[in-house]
Amino acid sequence: MSFRTGFGIDFHQLVEGRELWLGGVKIPHHKGALGHSDADVLLHAICDAMLGALALGDIGTHFPDTDPSFKGIDSKILLQKTNDLILHQGYKVVNVDAALCLEAPKIKPHVASMCSTISTLLGVSTSNVSIKATTTEKMGFVGREEGLVAYAVVQLHHQFNKVRIVNRSHHPLPEYATLDSSGMDLRAFLEHPLTLSPLERLLVPTGLHLEIPTGMEAQVRPRSGLAIRQGLTCLNTPGTIDADYRGEIKVILINLSNEPQVINDGDRIAQLVFQNVEKIVWESSAELTATKRNEGGFGHTGTN
Ligand code: MG
Repeated sequence: MSFRTGFGIDFHQLVEGRELWLGGVKIPHHKGALGHSDADVLLHAICDAMLGALALGDIGTHFPDTDPSFKGIDSKILLQKTNDLILHQGYKVVNVDAALCLEAPKIKPHVASMCSTISTLLGVSTSNVSIKATTTEKMGFVGREEGLVAYAVVQLHHQFNKVRIVNRSHHPLPEYATLDSSGMDLRAFLEHPLTLSPLERLLVPTGLHLEIPTGMEAQVRPRSGLAIRQGLTCLNTPGTIDADYRGEIKVILINLSNEPQVINDGDRIAQLVFQNVEKIVWESSAELTATKRNEGGFGHTGTN
């Protein structure tokens, strides 16, 4: 698992007649930050830290202030777009630690709301977002309330491998239904509905071809809903798809119910789970290391 760390910093002037947005939250104050967007200095620092972690340039590269479409834009949209960029590179935010530097107003009452906003946008828990604030003890431009500064450090981890896919079906690509789903449902790709008699088995096409990275496999597993409702399950499960297989993914379904079961085009028939594969080399030997159990076999320890 690979980790990357990024650092971001941002400054804005404070002026009368502007709204003050910090961490995606509107803060009541007589001054606000001046900028092309809503000038949310904290979200900008976090965006820069995320981009910096992957050496993807800075916020100005991706969202230039010369582009009229970003004028007055809500910086939450910029953070969302930055997060999409990170996800597209296969990375996910682990945690954010940020500090605001401003003389007034007091930030503490708004910290929980900022953490909640940021964690929702980044898809992490609030315990992984830290926001602190300090004054400069009246020193410098911050002390004179002419401006404010935000600093952020972000850690990312490489979570998603890219897998090349050819989709010859007319169905959308398989996807994770929730943030922590481990499998993606596969859909039947059929010209006509199929009927499986009791105990009949069939190879059901999906129209999908994968190029699985070396060192990984994909497993085809049954779906619990299909099994309990219709008695439909997979044979040869979990079926392994090797990294060098380029043929169409097909699912061996069997009907274990007492009635014929119909499978329609687009039905979700199985799930696909990706796994890392450990490879071994054999070490030939005349004997194995002794254990307390030794040759005690399957069921040797009884049922209670
Ligand atoms: Mg900025």
